[in-house]
Amino acid sequence: MTGWREELRASVRGEVIFDAPMAQRTSLRVGGPCDALFRPADAEDLAGALRLLRGAGVPWLAIGGGANTLVGDRGIRGCVVRIGPEFAPEQVEPVEGGALVTLPAGASNQRVVGVMREEGLWGAEFLSGIPGSAGGAATMNAGTKMGEMKDVMDAVEVATPEGARWIPAAELRYAYRTSHLPEGAVITRVRIRLKRGTPSELASAAERMEKDRDYRKRTQPLTLPNCGSVFRNPEGDFAGRLIEVCGLKGRRIGGASWSEVHANFIVNLGGATARDVRALIELAQAQVKGKFNVQLEPEVRFVGEF
Ligand SMILES: Cc1cc2nc3c(=O)[nH]c(=O)nc-3n(C[C@H](O)[C@H](O)[C@H](O)COP(=O)(O)OP(=O)(O)OC[C@H]3O[C@@H](n4cnc5c(N)ncnc54)[C@H](O)[C@@H]3O)c2cc1C
Repeated sequence: MTGWREELRASVRGEVIFDAPMAQRTSLRVGGPCDALFRPADAEDLAGALRLLRGAGVPWLAIGGGANTLVGDRGIRGCVVRIGPEFAPEQVEPVEGGALVTLPAGASNQRVVGVMREEGLWGAEFLSGIPGSAGGAATMNAGTKMGEMKDVMDAVEVATPEGARWIPAAELRYAYRTSHLPEGAVITRVRIRLKRGTPSELASAAERMEKDRDYRKRTQPLTLPNCGSVFRNPEGDFAGRLIEVCGLKGRRIGGASWSEVHANFIVNLGGATARDVRALIELAQAQVKGKFNVQLEPEVRFVGEF
């Protein structure tokens, strides 16, 4: 694996940062550095870099806003690819009843909401309170009771060492907070289908978004670093309810704690490590399994070395 850093730096047009700290690039603010953080200039730049990495036997993974990612304290070996919001231009293509909106994977969910407002469209209101990027949302099938990405997804453009191609949403086998991307594929663009709104439809969409954001302010610990819901909700129940009944609300390990405000959130009180966060996760899993015989599955994605 030696020498690949210099080759990467010399061969790409985008930005490369070596030994880039990941804590500041995730919403939980924990985790060590990755060997290289690469922000490709465009699709060709990315495909060339992926070919180089594959040839050198260097692993890579994509990250968006880092709002659903727990990076280990020893960091990530290999290259982290981050698609910026300027990677590709936005496109709005009118279709029957609405529009197909294409955004770079690095566009924020807030930008999706901005496009809806500017273009008189609706249908992705659920994104307004969800942090992160369009690429992360498309990967995670992000959503709320109002809806989820699979309801609006048309297709994703992915890059692999072979180049770029579009994959229709139906092939991503969307399910609750998951999708199935080809191994090593980096989403570069996301295309969603939105509806053209009448003034009253748009007003009611705006109202739904405002209510959701208000609700989150009241029920989520938004003033402390966190990664949203730590566990997926088990069939017919809520992970937060099970954690609360186990008496874990407010339980602290090192600099991390189960939130007092929302039982399925872990907060970084300052100086938390990934090890602290993982210990809290394992504690909840053990207690919930012991008390309810339910195996809680993390929604947050673990990456790197712990
Ligand atoms: C306060 C708070 C509230 C939240 N509320 C919700 C909620 O209501 N509903 C919900 O669903 N989620 C929620 N989340 C979780 C999170 O916001 C979503 O999962 C979001 O979609 C993650 O996007 P991201 O860009 O930050 O993804 P990241 O954390 O960067 O990545 C998540 C996964 O997607 C992959 N990925 C990211 N970008 C790409 C790409 N371009 N190509 C290939 N793979 C990629 C990563 O490898 C990783 O496996 C919340 C989080 C926080 C902090």
